[in-house]
Amino acid sequence: MVAPDLDTVVSLAKRRGFIFPSAEIYGGFANTYDYGPLGVELKRNIREAWWRSIVRLRDDVVGLDAALLTNPRVWVASGHAENFTDPLVDCKDCQRRFRPDHIEEGVYGDVARDDDGNLICPNCSGDLTSARLFNMMFQTQVGTVADGASTAYLPPETAQGMFINFENVRDSMRKKLPFGIAQTRVSFRNEITPGRFIFRTLEFEQMEMEFFCHPEAAAEWHKYWIDERLRWYVDIVGINKERLRLRDHDPDELSHYSAGTTDIEYNFPWGWGELEGVAIRTAYDLKAHSEHSGQSLTYFDDATSEHITPYVIEPAAGLSRTLAVALLDSYSNELDEKGDERVVLKLPPLISPIKVAVLPLSKKDVLTPTAQKVYKMIRERWMSQYDETQSIGRRYRRQDEIGTPLCVTIDFDSLDDNAVTVRERDTQQQIRVPIDGLMEALAERLPGV
Ligand code: ATP
Repeated sequence: MVAPDLDTVVSLAKRRGFIFPSAEIYGGFANTYDYGPLGVELKRNIREAWWRSIVRLRDDVVGLDAALLTNPRVWVASGHAENFTDPLVDCKDCQRRFRPDHIEEGVYGDVARDDDGNLICPNCSGDLTSARLFNMMFQTQVGTVADGASTAYLPPETAQGMFINFENVRDSMRKKLPFGIAQTRVSFRNEITPGRFIFRTLEFEQMEMEFFCHPEAAAEWHKYWIDERLRWYVDIVGINKERLRLRDHDPDELSHYSAGTTDIEYNFPWGWGELEGVAIRTAYDLKAHSEHSGQSLTYFDDATSEHITPYVIEPAAGLSRTLAVALLDSYSNELDEKGDERVVLKLPPLISPIKVAVLPLSKKDVLTPTAQKVYKMIRERWMSQYDETQSIGRRYRRQDEIGTPLCVTIDFDSLDDNAVTVRERDTQQQIRVPIDGLMEALAERLPGV
């Protein structure tokens, strides 16, 4: 199971209402996408699954929802105002802008150089400027007067909200080390991108957790969170283990705050790419915010009667990238019971956008009251869809293609025997179930949903 290429998934995502290019009627807007009716469900389900495993099922992690716009001094203290930069080159002829590492990686096709061995423009073969550093944070103005003092930044990561609230959370929740603060939120980066669908976009949602621990326990917790997060992708999002790997950052690629980062990578159609980074952020951020704000952000350790600045382990995941991988990795093209081709998204039921489809065998009015009664009963508990158009075979195909794990069919016999047919997506098995016991039969087939 895996999509043959990215285009197959991009086209399914658009055709079936998962993801649309943003502002399409105006010719689009580079590297921005809108999530359609099924995409928004899939995204919510993945976010909820993350929140459940990181916050709800643990005693040592609590949640937060910090403001997007905040005091700009936060970004000076965090180092982002100075260090959150990408080296970029401009083409002197066509004026297009590129990341030189992307050109070197061959993401625009074969790498071309001039006689002296310098990279040339992948678009028009023109000369490129030398690389200059550009800050990737978007700026905006707060208030009505535009001057330096009113400049604020759109957050390029969620982490700072957790650091600046460290003391509020510790104090109000009476937390002892080790403990974590988690948040899911949109982040913004002014990225120059080679346009790989939702893999790299200007705005994207992150799911991040800052886990505060004793400095000497940091290496152990780092390993723990790498294992835990890898397990989540396999067991909860259903990603094939073979297409995941761990990669340690080389010292020269580490972020300015990191003493060690391990990426969880997925084998995308264009090669291995990051899904999540698990970093040892040391005491960098708490110390920086202490210095810049003048407020102590230390922790009193009862055991040693000393004030320490905790170390931080940060698993930082991308929600949109996880969603892209869920679509790519669950895609399957196989033969159905009649030997016809069918496309199936084999998503785990927990994250499938629609859990149950209710399908009256025919549009005839006589079936409608029973079918509607069944549908209204089911939708109280699970996200469901009612579909009465076209042949039953085509309707099964449509539900397979969006990953609906169960279909319930109401036929003419249902009017006599008060029973319906439940069809399973993966096995295509059909069983007859009395309407009275339908909710239990569905629950059995949707464990944990
Ligand atoms: P990359 O090396 O791919 O630019 P990064 O190392 O800058 O990613 P982090 O700062 O570690 O990314 O952010 C954590 C996660 O947020 C990434 O693993 C990724 O899933 C997601 N992410 C980062 N930038 C983007 C983006 N522009 N679009 C979509 N997701 C992103």
